[in-house]
Amino acid sequence: MPNRPVINLIGIPYDQKSSYMRGAAGAPSNIRYTMNDGSSNDWTETGYNFRADADFRDLGDLQIHEHQDLFKEIASRYHPEEAFIFLGGDHSITYPIIKSIHQKRQGFDILHFDAHTDLYHDFEGDQYSHACPFARIMEEGLCHRLIQVGIRTITRHQQEQIEKFGVEVITMRKLAQIHQLKLTRPLYISIDLDGFDPAYAPGVSHHEPGGLIPREIINYLLSIEQEIIAADIVELNPRRDHERMTSALAYKLLKELCGMMIRHQSN
Ligand code: MN
Ligand code: MN
Repeated sequence: MPNRPVINLIGIPYDQKSSYMRGAAGAPSNIRYTMNDGSSNDWTETGYNFRADADFRDLGDLQIHEHQDLFKEIASRYHPEEAFIFLGGDHSITYPIIKSIHQKRQGFDILHFDAHTDLYHDFEGDQYSHACPFARIMEEGLCHRLIQVGIRTITRHQQEQIEKFGVEVITMRKLAQIHQLKLTRPLYISIDLDGFDPAYAPGVSHHEPGGLIPREIINYLLSIEQEIIAADIVELNPRRDHERMTSALAYKLLKELCGMMIRHQSN
């Protein structure tokens, strides 16, 4: 990696695989607006300025109409020498992202924050629904460990999928277990904003009360020493947001992930 880390931002305004409500396609432009409106400075809690201390490149949005086109479009842009942050879109984008990364870089774990496991074999007949990406990832063996945090909606079918694939699940009830996690490999971080409590993140399609508190998760993220090779922030639905507060959370997470990527490259 070069001394000045390269961080690429890619928007994927795609929500055709949402099962309940559309709107997540509006998220990338909404988050960029919050990122650039001057309401917050560019400094992160790691002490780095994400624009000044990195070569931060906004590559714009992928114009995707069919889910099957996502893999080719992402794979043509991904390079393992650089860090990437993807803005969804619904969570269906994570499978083609991980498949694209796995083509060029193996040996990473996935840390996934969500109210839902997204492990359905299919949802209403669709294997590429936003309820299914982690079933596809695990079937194809695209990561070593899958660690899910914030889960609070496990069905019997999903419990079977968890056992079948050996997924490590830290439910909301047992959230304190997050501090016992031993992370040993580079990480891909996938953040579904509905993992947070709707009080902090109302701008999502699926409200699941009793969720994560941003401060707690930001502190945990900042404590991670492993390299973060790439991340996604998905499921912001601007139509349901209040005063862009969920958008501000998405931007905060984006900024802190950048700070952590810079810190790792600078050490
Ligand atoms: Mn979810
Ligand atoms: Mn999800």
